Amino acid sequence: MNATDGLCVESCERCPALVESRSRIVNGVGPEDADLVFLGEAPGEKEDEGGEPFVGRSGDVLDEALRDAGLARSDVRITNCVRCRPPENRDPHKEELGNCRGYLEAELETVDPELVVTMGKVPSEHLLDRGVAVTKEAGEVQDARIGDRSQRVLLSVHPAATLYDASQRDTFSDAIARAAELAGVADEEGGQSRLGDY
Ligand code: SF4
Repeated sequence: MNATDGLCVESCERCPALVESRSRIVNGVGPEDADLVFLGEAPGEKEDEGGEPFVGRSGDVLDEALRDAGLARSDVRITNCVRCRPPENRDPHKEELGNCRGYLEAELETVDPELVVTMGKVPSEHLLDRGVAVTKEAGEVQDARIGDRSQRVLLSVHPAATLYDASQRDTFSDAIARAAELAGVADEEGGQSRLGDY
């Protein structure tokens, strides 16, 4: 694997502030031909420590919603818009998102998923290239232009939103269940409709 397929970036110093704050580059995890890709914003403290996206409490919420939808974490690919932890967990700057965009585009081209689920405002706005009211639009499916490709995207709230606002739990788990169904990877009870039928 190498940086050209976006799966494993081993060295990169394009974002000076993030190079300063990171312990390591956190690449995506999961199958290289996954039907579903979950996209977050950036590694946080736990991800920076462990070298894997969405671990810690947000990861637990994601894992639980996946289980409820009949999926295991190992069935899906999980990655971030930027691969290095921003200082004090601030949002990545526009320039940093742009610096890392090529890796994300290469990763999505390599994996070629049925559906990308954007978890939270930053990844949703990054892929759709417009302002997104994520709580209101959660569960909607849209087409995004990513590099030379058109990609189906399902908008979702961030799993951490469910930790401080219980009313977001159903919003999040409904979005994940819908994503599993649309990508054709839901369990028997969740149905088997394909995106092409959507
Ligand atoms: S965030 Fe992406 S572009 Fe910036 S230094 Fe890390 S790997 Fe490179």
